[in-house]
Amino acid sequence: MTEKKSLQTLLSHSDYVAPEGFAALPVAIHHASTVLFSNVAALRSRDWKEKTGYTYGLHGTPTTFTLEARLAEIEGGTHCLLAPSGLAAIAMVDLAFLKTGDDVLLPDNVYNPNRELGNWLAQDFGITVRYYDPLVGSEIAALIQPNTRLIWTEAPGSVTMEVPDIPAICRAAHERGVLVALDNTWAAGIAFAAFEHGVDIVMQALTKYQSGGSDVLMGAIITRDKAVHERVELAHMRLGLGVSADDTYLVLRSLPSMKLRFDAHDRGGRRVAAWLKSRPEIERVLHPALPDCPGHAIWQRDFTGAGGLFSVVFDERYAEPQTDRFVDGLKLFKIGYSWGGAHSLCVPYRVQAMRKDWKGQGQLVRFHIGLEDPDDLIADIERALRLL
Ligand SMILES: *Cc1c(COP(=O)(O)O)cnc(C)c1O
Repeated sequence: MTEKKSLQTLLSHSDYVAPEGFAALPVAIHHASTVLFSNVAALRSRDWKEKTGYTYGLHGTPTTFTLEARLAEIEGGTHCLLAPSGLAAIAMVDLAFLKTGDDVLLPDNVYNPNRELGNWLAQDFGITVRYYDPLVGSEIAALIQPNTRLIWTEAPGSVTMEVPDIPAICRAAHERGVLVALDNTWAAGIAFAAFEHGVDIVMQALTKYQSGGSDVLMGAIITRDKAVHERVELAHMRLGLGVSADDTYLVLRSLPSMKLRFDAHDRGGRRVAAWLKSRPEIERVLHPALPDCPGHAIWQRDFTGAGGLFSVVFDERYAEPQTDRFVDGLKLFKIGYSWGGAHSLCVPYRVQAMRKDWKGQGQLVRFHIGLEDPDDLIADIERALRLL
């Protein structure tokens, strides 16, 4: 029997229960901080670490569990954890595996905020952070110390585009019991089979192709070893890294079209890159599918696609004010960071200031090829080149 409630109580308590059995294709968006238990025994017995049940919004809902499971399947892993950005996912890995006195190796072409984080760990947390030549390959063995715990890799580096020999780095690391983490954002978890090539921990910025809408910030860590996953899971819990149900839904909604979009970005990217290669203003096209790109042979051996992100180096006769004029002169290409969305983007980088071993004085400009017609993009670039 329903007890009579005052209006104020009725506003938040109702006896109505929607009928069970609703079925539809989209994954439901579950908003929750509090998760309810049917009794105290259920509350006491449920473990936040096990994804078989729910304990608190931060530890997962059907919406976040579903995205995690799908990303793990796509990447060929067994466990996945979401973070509120790609960078948060990187930080979660560092805090899971590094402590004072440990050593971590980062590629010299690493995503710059990862380098910033490394510098912070070195400055304030007593961790040694060393940078290695991304093309080092098996010679990374000589850099591994007894206190080296983690080697970050990025395939390829997202500005200067060197493609590393991941299997060689993983072999050398594993011989010494060191874990290898890969920033697999460029290949979107679909054009490079990270685990098959030996990687232990995969990080993806879902902000890019998985979202595809330039509207979501999210990251993921995917693993295939329970003990490794549990270390990351503890860091995830202790740091309180939650993601919004609505953002998770946006990524779930975009996933079915990801491969079609990625392949379209790839086709457009290769067209525009090949055209740029034919231009006298351009000294080098740093696109992993073109021979100019350091590590091109490794890309051919290990990758199945390229997506839409690549860089060019202008001939040295063009100084920064001229190449800035070129970038400002583009109309279809917008100026802005990030990539993986429908809109083409362009960013000039002061790479000489970022890399101590960078050779050459030509200006570097990075392109993200969106989903526009490549002929229109080429026409846009051709017009802007006249402003040099
Ligand atoms: C964008 C990006 C990240 C970080 O992702 P955010 O969600 O923007 O924090 C990490 N690595 C690479 C290579 C990226 O391009």
